[in-house]
Amino acid sequence: MDTKIEKIRNCLLDAEKIRTAGAIIRAGGLVAFPTETVYGLGADALNACAARKIYEAKGRPSDNPLIVHIARFSDLERLSAALPSSAKRLSEAFWPGPLTIIVQKNEIVPYETTGGMDTVAVRMPNHPVALALIRESGGFVAAPSANSSGRPSPTLAGHVADDLDGRISMILDGGQVGIGIESTIIDLTEEIPTILRPGYITREMLQEVIGEVRIDPGILASDCTKKPKAPGMKYKHYAPRAELILVEGEEERVVSKINELSGQAFCDGKRVGVIGTDETCARYQAHVVISIGVRSDEEAIARRLYKVLREFDEMDIDIIYSESFATPNIGQAIMNRLLKAAGYQLIRV
Ligand code: AMP
Ligand code: MG
Repeated sequence: MDTKIEKIRNCLLDAEKIRTAGAIIRAGGLVAFPTETVYGLGADALNACAARKIYEAKGRPSDNPLIVHIARFSDLERLSAALPSSAKRLSEAFWPGPLTIIVQKNEIVPYETTGGMDTVAVRMPNHPVALALIRESGGFVAAPSANSSGRPSPTLAGHVADDLDGRISMILDGGQVGIGIESTIIDLTEEIPTILRPGYITREMLQEVIGEVRIDPGILASDCTKKPKAPGMKYKHYAPRAELILVEGEEERVVSKINELSGQAFCDGKRVGVIGTDETCARYQAHVVISIGVRSDEEAIARRLYKVLREFDEMDIDIIYSESFATPNIGQAIMNRLLKAAGYQLIRV
């Protein structure tokens, strides 16, 4: 299959390209498109065969459900058997935006889209190209991140092409995404609403709108002993090709531990990479040292995270040591992704 890459500079000027993309989705095909979080791989969410194609193209395990993207508030009700009042309050507060809401599904949503579950994950993205495409596609677009299963999520159209060229019909190139990590997922089918995946929208922000919110204990467990509730969070994920090891602790100790480990790996004949920050990079000795940004600017770090992991893939690195980023805000989402990318290998100093 030939994958057509179309640059979208402006939704009005490029309306024809978006119409073509919508027609592909309505006909059961696959189109990758930008959202404010990461690039998504879209198919008609109400068409079982189309949803199945997403799993095939990504090599995604079939029990890992897809998020349905909508462009009108009233469409949430059309997918749901029972809508709690918290769903309405959260959607009004955070949509369009990086929050995914899980509710009971109704019969119009095929099990292929929900990975066999009776619940459905729904989000309204905050990106003009995504919203225009969803409207052109009939209103319900299933879209997981547009990477091959297990690889870092794409934050540029080029990342999508690297993973899926020849497997999908079209990529809408809207440039670099704004946030850079996937949406926060909240499950409203639990007695106490539960965060299944941390993201830009934090627990504190959610609690201000709906009161008590828990965090699924499975998602931050560094020892893998607790099974996460979102099926997707149990797979090795977001991972670069090289082995990744995180080091956590006070800055000076982290720098010297990483230099010690790099030195050992170097003696073992390995090519070594380090992920540091603007504050620390000059102090590292390794084959490749990449700064992920200024430590205090977590939003910029989130935006660069997957790009940095993919850059190492192009440099033939065997092992990467990375600093840690754990704060109550978006640092928690960054750390969640890094821990998964590292297969939970974390050294505390
Ligand atoms: P992706 O869109 O690739 O970032 O993956 C979607 C994430 O949402 C995966 O981790 C899924 O397991 C999770 N998810 C989607 N639908 C549900 C659901 N109904 N229940 C629990 N988790 C879900
Ligand atoms: Mg994904």
